[in-house]
Amino acid sequence: MHPSQQKEIFLLIIGTISCAVLFSFFDLGFLGATIALAIYTGLNLRQLFRLQNWLVSSDKSNIPEAGGYWGELFNEIHLMDKERRKHQQRLRKVLTRFQKAAAALPDGTVILSNENKIEWANRSANDLLGINIRNDIGHQVTNLVRHPGFIQYLEQGNFNEIISIPSPEKPNHSLVIQIIPFGSSQRLLTCRDITHIRKLEAMRSQFVANVSHELRSPITVLSGYLETLRGMQAIKPDVLHKALNNMHEQAKRMERLVVDLIALTKLETTPSAEQKTVDVAALLSSLVEAAQEISGSKQHKITLQIDSTRQLRGSQEELYSLFSNLINNAVRYSPEKTHINVRWFASNDEAVFEVEDHGPGIAAIHIPRLTERFYRVDADRSRESGGTGLGLAIVKHVLERHDGHLIIESELDKGSTFRCIFPNKRTIS
Ligand code: ADP
Repeated sequence: MHPSQQKEIFLLIIGTISCAVLFSFFDLGFLGATIALAIYTGLNLRQLFRLQNWLVSSDKSNIPEAGGYWGELFNEIHLMDKERRKHQQRLRKVLTRFQKAAAALPDGTVILSNENKIEWANRSANDLLGINIRNDIGHQVTNLVRHPGFIQYLEQGNFNEIISIPSPEKPNHSLVIQIIPFGSSQRLLTCRDITHIRKLEAMRSQFVANVSHELRSPITVLSGYLETLRGMQAIKPDVLHKALNNMHEQAKRMERLVVDLIALTKLETTPSAEQKTVDVAALLSSLVEAAQEISGSKQHKITLQIDSTRQLRGSQEELYSLFSNLINNAVRYSPEKTHINVRWFASNDEAVFEVEDHGPGIAAIHIPRLTERFYRVDADRSRESGGTGLGLAIVKHVLERHDGHLIIESELDKGSTFRCIFPNKRTIS
């Protein structure tokens, strides 16, 4: 027994006995004991009422004043109440933090009751599903997300699966939704915008289709020749010569495609360009010389204008690929004997590489798409001149990796200018 309880019982017994002894002088010992017990009960009742009044009052800091056993009791209740309040405050803080974190999640999150009524939703759920925490609490989720696939998913209750539906809020956006049961009967609905993944998948399929298409015709030509040659008893030298020449051309075409594909993959998968000093003037001199040779019988007049001594910080190999793609395009697409001007100059804290030709020009509608892989204005013309459809995609990637950008100016039947702008931070004076 607690010492204060022992003390209380002791006082009760002593008080009752003392009263009984006192009253026994008048032969009223029993009455004395009864009076003592009645006084004791009255005092305790008073404290009990004070305790109840205190417990029901809103201000628990006002502890009733009492000594002895009741004083200790009031004090203990007060301490317990203080501890409970502290605990509540801690819980409230954790809950607020959790709600803030859940509200900031990029995935839509909705808490549903077992009857699929909305109990809570975060901001992303509003963006993706149109569920607004202010207006929609207590509403059936199917009133807001009405897609038949979603309704069926909810009814079937097989929540190991995920489903994909169009966003009811954002046109052309795809969502994946999963329901996770938790607690006794609640459900957590999560949804994620997978539009970009779908786009990437579509781009990948398109890319594979394009590569297959590019490879199919040279392979068809090669196997056609091989089939014909295999079936011939004796092959005339001129026929064989023509066949070998054509086969060689097709093999070269495939090789160019594979080389460009490898270059593009490398640009897309390696983190960043090297940081070496590249002597642009020297690089362009050798490229222009090579371009004059490629021009051959077309006798283009290729001029090189170096107006800046600036060098570039980056990858020699990648910049070689960038410059040669643009110079070679000018040679491949321009009619014979036309003028092609290659320039390297500085302007407004930037270094500029520019190739200007007097070729067929490009209609404005095509210009924004030219750097897409396999985008060609005239596919036959591109292939005839040895194009892979990947040159400008490579140019775009190399420029991005060197913090630069491409400007294309062109006018039909007049010519084109491809301008690469490099920021000052990439140049070395
Ligand atoms: P390709 O291997 O087909 O040349 P590119 O990516 O280098 O591929 O170029 C994409 C398309 O841009 C070309 O198919 C062509 O239609 C157009 N093009 C590129 N450079 C020029 C140019 N100097 N003059 C006219 N058209 C050009």
